[in-house]
Order: sequence, then C-alpha cells, then structure tokens
Amino acid sequence: MRSTDRAKGKRHEETPAEVPVPEEQARVREIVERLRERYPVARTALKFRTPLELLVATILSAQCTDERVNQVTAELFRRYRTAEEYASAPLRELERLIRPTGYYRNKARAIKAACQKLVADFGGEVPATMEALLTLPGVARKTANVVLQNAFGIASGIVVDTHVLRVAQRLGLTREKDRDKVERDLMALVPREEWIAFSHRLIAHGRETCRARRPLCGQCSLESLCPYPQKVR
Ligand code: SF4
Repeated sequence: MRSTDRAKGKRHEETPAEVPVPEEQARVREIVERLRERYPVARTALKFRTPLELLVATILSAQCTDERVNQVTAELFRRYRTAEEYASAPLRELERLIRPTGYYRNKARAIKAACQKLVADFGGEVPATMEALLTLPGVARKTANVVLQNAFGIASGIVVDTHVLRVAQRLGLTREKDRDKVERDLMALVPREEWIAFSHRLIAHGRETCRARRPLCGQCSLESLCPYPQKVR
C-alpha cells in the first residue's frame, strides 16, 4: 500500500509514453490475443457484492492472497455493511477481524479513514471516478483501478500489481519500475477496450506461469513473443 501511496497525487499524464512502432503494436496484439485464449474468463477472485465491499477487500489484498482475503471478508462483510458502520467501528475490533490478512493495524486504519471520508464527502457511497477515489486516504491508482474496473466496469487505467509489474517488464512492455509509469506505458500499448481484461489476464499469468522465481518459460504460450528467455540463457 505504501508504494502506491507515494505515487498518489502525481499527475498520471505528465510524461507521455512513447508512441509504439508498428512491429511492437503487432507483438502486443498477439500477446493480448494469446492471453485471451489462455485465460478466457478474466475477473477478480475477490468476493464482493457492492463497490464498498470491493474497496475494503482491495485494501485488505495488499501483501495477501485473494483466498485469505475472501476468508476474512466472509465474516467482516456480515458485521459491517455500510461506510457509516466502518467509520464508527472500534479500531481494535476491525483489527481483530482482519488480522489474518497481515499489516492489520495499517489496513484497519486505512479502511476506517477511507470510510470516514466516504461519509463526510460522498454520502457514504463509493464514487465512480478516478479523481474522487484518489481523495480517499490509503487509496492510490491501483486500488482505484480495481474498484472502477470490477465494481463499475470503467476502464480508467490498468491495474499494476506485483504480477503485472513483473510480467510486463519481462515481456519488454516497459522499462520502468515505478508503477504509475508502467501503467502509462501499458495504456499506450494496449487498446483501451482490453484494459480491464488485460489486467486480470496478466495477473493470472504471473501467478500461474510467469512466476517470480523460476518462470515456466518452456510451458508459456508467450515464449516466442518474449525477450526474457533469451536474456537468461
Ligand atoms: S516466456 Fe517466461 S518470462 Fe516470458 S512471459 Fe512467459 S513465463 Fe514469463
């Protein structure tokens, strides 16, 4: 959460990404196509019924698996249903409920502060714009993109989590390390109508095949399009 916090407040379009050359556009189109074939169902594994539940689940998902988050939110969402309830919840109670997700003290404070802001400025509702979401404490572009994409179906960017960052770098889609700049590069390469699904598919690919340690290049459908195996040979 902290790295995205640091990125918060930056103007995303400050430095335009380079315009991709036709060969690179063709390679990216093929990457998008092969990922679509490999992962036909592209959606978040986080369980939620409302934008508020997704916002809370996304805050909890930092440094935690979606499976663990879903276990925790099953009980959490039974106890708290509105932003007002989170905003007035005893901090210790919140911490106890979300403890298995790790960094529970920071996360409890972030959830409470975000919900207090929702109550104060947005009538208790989660806003459906990037600009408004970025005013919530603890919410930066990654969390805002997850909420906009999955709760509202709005493609305002590409989610850059740890998997997207790693796979995009290995595929040579970016040379950047800063997540906002990586997102900017991907947005310039990938057609807007693909942004939501592309986020999900790159995350799935990072989990299943392009793992952090020992990526399974020999089993990867993108191998012929990827410069990484040549580099490590
Ligand atoms: S070829 Fe290897 S490095 Fe490239 S995307 Fe596939 S698993 Fe990742």
